[in-house]
Parts: sequence; structure tokens; C-alpha cells
Amino acid sequence: MAVILLTGGAGYVGSHACVALAAAGHSPVLFDDFSNAREDVPDRLARLTGAPVPCYRGDVRDPAALGRVLAAQNPDAVMHFAALKAVGESMDRPLDYMAVNIAGLVTLLGAMEAAGLRRLVYSSSATVYGVPDVTPTPESAPRRAVNPYGFTKIKGEEILEQLAASDPRWAVGVLRYFNPAGAHESAMIGEDPSGRPNNLVPLIARVAAGQLRRLEVFGDDYSTPDGTGVRDYIHVMDLAEGHRLSVERLLAGAPGHVLNLGTGRGHSVLEVLAAYGRAVGRELPYRVVPRRPGDVPVYCADPARAEAELGFRARRDLDEICRSSWAWVRGQAARRA
Ligand code: UDP
Repeated sequence: MAVILLTGGAGYVGSHACVALAAAGHSPVLFDDFSNAREDVPDRLARLTGAPVPCYRGDVRDPAALGRVLAAQNPDAVMHFAALKAVGESMDRPLDYMAVNIAGLVTLLGAMEAAGLRRLVYSSSATVYGVPDVTPTPESAPRRAVNPYGFTKIKGEEILEQLAASDPRWAVGVLRYFNPAGAHESAMIGEDPSGRPNNLVPLIARVAAGQLRRLEVFGDDYSTPDGTGVRDYIHVMDLAEGHRLSVERLLAGAPGHVLNLGTGRGHSVLEVLAAYGRAVGRELPYRVVPRRPGDVPVYCADPARAEAELGFRARRDLDEICRSSWAWVRGQAARRA
């Protein structure tokens, strides 16, 4: 059983990884600046896991703050979730993305090395594939940056490759997420973006909750079965399990890995909308608008390597994603009322 430090641990994916780690007997420790996470997440995690979850407030660009948590908690490994992640925003503020996602990573790695800790699970993204030539996309596909966000994720992967090549004591798990969605079955944690969401499932949730009149479907003239964009939606608890398996491999002495975390199955925008409608019990309104600039028609993971290397397989389907998202959103609305 290990102590695992989660940077960005109060955020969407980090908080679910925290639950998966605690359920497997590990001791998660959070480090977060709460720029895109609610202050009450550590308390909720404590209630959910049945044990206090230590939480340190800090910025990943701050070596002293990182040094303090590493010295106090002496973790066995780090999961690095703390990053900016909105494609559109990255085009408006590329330097912020480079500062947090690239300089923040380098600062973390320096603090880890100073503490003699060299095991890291890194949050990468399917966006490193740019516009993929092949779908389902295997890890061997070339990396291409199509926006500043994707650029920072590719640079992060390259930095980690150089580091591992220079010192074999580094063991790094690079996990390329497809489209995480859904919430923990308890409905006590979930995706809670500050401001207007950018991603499809939280936007549909707003339509279901009556906060948005209808979903705007970005284009129905792609060469996909119904013309709308296709993505590989992975339940956030499956993603969290993938992280646990990844860190456990590193703790067992494995050298490192680069893996897709997806289901291997794509769903169109209209399929997701219909599934959410089933969860809510009524059809949800939409209208088709022009394509969103920069959108890729299809993203879908080839999940074979993650299964071969970690025994990882996503178990939850699109209906489970929508049901759990809706339970979380309804619960939040009831708590606020
Ligand atoms: N999408 C949409 N309307 C929205 C938001 C997203 O039709 O208001 C579509 C988008 O074009 C894409 C899919 O939903 O095909 C997933 O978009 P998201 O931004 O969640 O993820 P990404 O494009 O980064 O994979």
C-alpha cells in the first residue's frame, strides 16, 4: 500500500482517482490550487473514502510548496493532474498553458528529483494525435500539435522521455485520455467546471437541468454514420482505475509505459444526447449549427496496449456515463437549493 501525491487532486479526474486509490488501500494526498476545483472536495472525499484525505494548497509552479508536501508526506509516487485543459482558451492564452502545463511539469520533476522520488503518472491526452490518420488510434500513431493545449501535452511527453532516457531510475506512466465523462456512483463528486463548460456531456447536463435551452450540435456533415462528431467517451471511474493500475505497475518496478485510456468504441454527438435523454426520461432539445473550428471528425482509442500491459478494460458504458452524470448534477442542484 502506497502514499500517492495527486497534483490537481481536487479536480475532476484527480478526485475520482483519489477514490479509486483509497478503495484499493492506498493513501492519497492532494495538492491543488483550487483554480478549477471546489473547496469542499477534500471533505467530500473524506466522507466518501471513510478517512481524512490530506490536502495541501499550492501551485505546481511553486517549488517551495511542492517541496513542503513532498517532505511532509514522503509519497511513493506522484500522479500529475494539475494542468489547464481547454482547447479554445489555449488559443487565447497560449503562454498560460505553457507556464502551467510545461513549466509546472518541469518544476514538479525538479522537486521530485530533489526528494529522491522518480515515479510519475502523467495525464496526457488523445489530442496529441492531432487529426489521426487511423482510428481506432494506436499509441504508435504520430504526434501532431493542432493547438497550444495539444502542444503542451506533446512537450510534456517529450520532456518525460528525455528525462527517463537520461536517468533510468525514472519510471513514468503516460496516460492518453480520450473523452472522460460521468461521475462517481455516489453522486458525491463529479465534473464541476467553473464558468460555462466546454465539453459535450456537461453541456448536455445543463440542457437537462434547464440552464441551457438546447444543445448546439457542431456540424452534422462529417463523414460519420449520422454526420455528427464521434468520440470515445470513457467513464471517469474507469479512467481512475486505469491510473491505479498504472501506478501499481510503476510501484512494482516496471520501467514505464505510454498508454491510451479509452473504450475502443466511438459515439456520435446525437448518440450521447439520446443516451442522456434516456437517463433523464425525456428527449433533450438540440439544433445543428456550423462545425466548431479545429474539431476532428473522429477520435477513438485502440485500447489493446492498455489491456495487454495493465489488464485495463473500461467496464462502464455510455448509459452509465449519462446516468451517473445526471445523478451528480441533480444532487448538486438539490444541495444548492
Ligand atoms: N460538441 C457539440 N456541441 C457542443 C460541444 C461539443 O456538438 O456544445 C461536439 C464536438 O464537436 C465533438 C464532441 O461534441 O464532436 C465532443 O466535444 P468535446 O469538446 O467534449 O471534446 P473534444 O472535441 O475535445 O474531443
